[in-house]
Amino acid sequence: MVPPEMNELQNAARELAARAPATREFADWPELAEFVPRNHRQCPALPLIKSWNSEHVPETQRFHEAVLAAADTVRWERSWSVRQVGADFMNRYGHFELAGPNGHFRCWKLRIFVSFWGESLYYPWHRHAAEEIYLVTSGSAEFHSQGQSSQTLGPLGCCRHSSWQPHEMTTFAQPVLTLVMWKGPGLCFPPQM
Ligand code: ZN
Repeated sequence: MVPPEMNELQNAARELAARAPATREFADWPELAEFVPRNHRQCPALPLIKSWNSEHVPETQRFHEAVLAAADTVRWERSWSVRQVGADFMNRYGHFELAGPNGHFRCWKLRIFVSFWGESLYYPWHRHAAEEIYLVTSGSAEFHSQGQSSQTLGPLGCCRHSSWQPHEMTTFAQPVLTLVMWKGPGLCFPPQM
């Protein structure tokens, strides 16, 4: 039995990913038939996420609201440590794996994350084996990939990284909520700084 808020989240994510040509090109949306019950885990950023009055754009509003509705159900995670990114960063970011080998919905081809960063945060250079695409849902951030000029992206903006391509990100006056997809070999290798 899939909890209704998780069913809505999956449907809203699929609808959102279909809106951007870059995410449509990145991967076909997988059939997410197997729901895996996972215990809820809080993260310190949760009150920030839930109290953020973002200026919704209509195209992303359904997904943003679905994330809020599922925020007390999902298993929030953080990949980094205080030593790597500092305590303030640790307290104001978080993500969960909506679909993937360890996601709320089982998927072996892709990992699909929902990731949040608070305002005025610097996400240092990092890289990973999997290919990646960010789709901004709400707010904005400056994305910088090695070998390319940086770009500030708002709702429906996309940024793609090839395997092991280093990238960094900075938020300014606004937080940013993103849908992130990984594919390719090394899907389960963790990111490195
Ligand atoms: Zn990445």
